[in-house]
Amino acid sequence: MAEAVRYVCGGCGHAIEAWSDGNPYYIDEAGAKQYAYHPDHKRLARCIGNDSTHLCLSCGHEFMVDSRAPVTACPGCGAREIADTYHLDGQRCPFCKAGVFASDPGFHCIS
Ligand SMILES: [Zn+2]
Ligand SMILES: [Zn+2]
Repeated sequence: MAEAVRYVCGGCGHAIEAWSDGNPYYIDEAGAKQYAYHPDHKRLARCIGNDSTHLCLSCGHEFMVDSRAPVTACPGCGAREIADTYHLDGQRCPFCKAGVFASDPGFHCIS
């Protein structure tokens, strides 16, 4: 079961949604990475890794971080201030550089 959250910047209102379990993937017969989406449990059982969406807190670039090959810096600008989009609570907003993200209590979604 996955849960979704939405974080909203208190300064500019920029909203980011994230799923608790990221994007699980498996490698198919041809060696290509395939994402398994809910509720495909047969495919989920084959998953060997997980790509989770991260946000650069410096330039606002969103990118995937592979659990099998994690990176610690933004591929766009090289900043080390990156955050998992599921854990943005209290992080400074890179879009307006003034507000911070807070979870939206009115948004709740379960798959
Ligand atoms: Zn903002
Ligand atoms: Zn960046």
